[in-house]
Amino acid sequence: METQQGELQLGDFIKGRLLFLEDYCKRRGLDYPKTLAEVQAQALRLAGTPEKAEFLKTRLFSGIVLSSSYFPDWVDKVLLEAITIAFKGPGAPLHTTTSRIPCITFEAGQFNAHRQADTVFRAYFSGKRPEDWLKSGFVQINRKCYGDAFADHIQVEELGPRRFRVSIDNAGVEKADQMDCSTGVGYLYGALEKLGVTGPLVTHDRCGLVPGSPDRICVYEISWR
Ligand SMILES: [Zn+2]
Repeated sequence: METQQGELQLGDFIKGRLLFLEDYCKRRGLDYPKTLAEVQAQALRLAGTPEKAEFLKTRLFSGIVLSSSYFPDWVDKVLLEAITIAFKGPGAPLHTTTSRIPCITFEAGQFNAHRQADTVFRAYFSGKRPEDWLKSGFVQINRKCYGDAFADHIQVEELGPRRFRVSIDNAGVEKADQMDCSTGVGYLYGALEKLGVTGPLVTHDRCGLVPGSPDRICVYEISWR
């Protein structure tokens, strides 16, 4: 939901990134405080301007991030890249086009789907068939987070049994980039896991955010067994 100019209700997603960082460290046996410090250092470097670095210091790293907190969308990009570098080193892939080859941004999206299905967006998941979640829940969640203008440009097609295509027109959507798409691949995959499907596959070969694309339309192909 757009509230202040240029700021979207990304609080729960940002909160999710920090929880993902903690969870990932726990699962991989990494030193969490040390990794967090590395993420903070990378994020301050990636911020690019003293104002943005100051914003990260005061609003993100030394305050409580609430689901209802408001953040400009560059914060998520900086955080995703900083987390990727802290986990995988500089030069690690920042995005993927298939759930078969997960990367950190994919895993961050997957983690958020799992978490939100149990918390803020439980109503959209609880007792829902995967088909119904794709046809309505997914769009409603996007409406909540990114507003009507964005959600109105999402098209969901049922191509056959357990086969869907989601197309998103990112024309005029400043926040969109390939990392964002990769978290989307992870989110769709994680949501399908939560909805109990077997063998989910999400691919994103047609990405309008690849430099040089004729338009900004992103297509996700979704299937399961
Ligand atoms: Zn894309």
